[in-house]
Amino acid sequence: MVKPFVPQLVYVEPRALEYPLGKELYEKFKKMGIEIKDTTSHNQIRNLPGDNHFQKYRVAKSTLVIGVRKTLKFDTSKPSAEYAIPFVTGCMGHCHYCYLQTTMGDKPYIRTYVNTEEIFDIASEYMKERMPEETRFEASCTSDIVGVDHLTHTLKRAIEFFGKTEHGRLRFVTKFAHVDHLLDAEHNGRTRFRFSINDHYIIKNFEPGTSRLDERIEAAVKVAEAGYPLGFIIAPIYLHEGWKEGYGEMMEKLASKLPAFAKKDLTFEMIQHRFTKPAKRVIEKNYPMTKLELDESARKWKWGRYGIGKYVYQDDEQEQIKDTLTGYIRGLFPEAKLEYFT
Ligand code: SF4
Repeated sequence: MVKPFVPQLVYVEPRALEYPLGKELYEKFKKMGIEIKDTTSHNQIRNLPGDNHFQKYRVAKSTLVIGVRKTLKFDTSKPSAEYAIPFVTGCMGHCHYCYLQTTMGDKPYIRTYVNTEEIFDIASEYMKERMPEETRFEASCTSDIVGVDHLTHTLKRAIEFFGKTEHGRLRFVTKFAHVDHLLDAEHNGRTRFRFSINDHYIIKNFEPGTSRLDERIEAAVKVAEAGYPLGFIIAPIYLHEGWKEGYGEMMEKLASKLPAFAKKDLTFEMIQHRFTKPAKRVIEKNYPMTKLELDESARKWKWGRYGIGKYVYQDDEQEQIKDTLTGYIRGLFPEAKLEYFT
């Protein structure tokens, strides 16, 4: 069982102490006896303890920076939402295929932003622009926010903020089961709480440092009982020997544990495994022993964002994935909505 995250090292940006949440977190970590350092520049943080890249990367992944979000323009976040809402960047998990390894580059530490009110104000502006349509905000584009939220409660505030809006919707996805503090948040049904799930072989081999499938399902049951709309992202769907059975077991387990009422308003998203050449290089550096298959010649090349091609499964494999998983979902969760396969 993965314990709730506790940082090994905390950095505080001086401006963060001008915000109530910044002060609160500073006091909290002081009381917890965690080493706290001031920082005015990222260069200082980049210079983390460790003799080599491997060690430094691991220290960074358990370092928390309390900072102020300066860029208040939100990125778009298709296909699951209109905008990405930035509360945290980075993650303490060690999933071998994590996209953050490439997007965060040499800044793999976790950064939590304390100017939440300013972030909410910007979200309100975006919502006004699209009225009377709803605007969906995705809170987990640059992190697994649930993994750190038991310490910061930023997500809880966001859930309650969107709970009071008429046109806003919040969504996020997690591989962590530490959800207890979110159960009494006044969500008013405006947050869709999603769990990322995968079969036993994949979680065991490629997702160290995250909650196991049983724990995630147990947390999903609590979340459903707390009245949240629930969803699952099956990602990344990865072909390995026995994958059909593996995913079948996963879906059956899910169906047997979820209460009937939770199966009525349920969404599924399916994302096949993909990688880029730069991602492959970083994965081999960060997780040199990984069993992850990253063979370009076995895959189909697909034009990607920013002109960087990605390697996805061949068309016939994609069809098999879609047919197999859609079959499981239709059979076990006939009322669920299948949002997309990509
Ligand atoms: Fe990346 Fe998600 Fe794993 Fe964290 S839990 S390392 S964000 S894939």
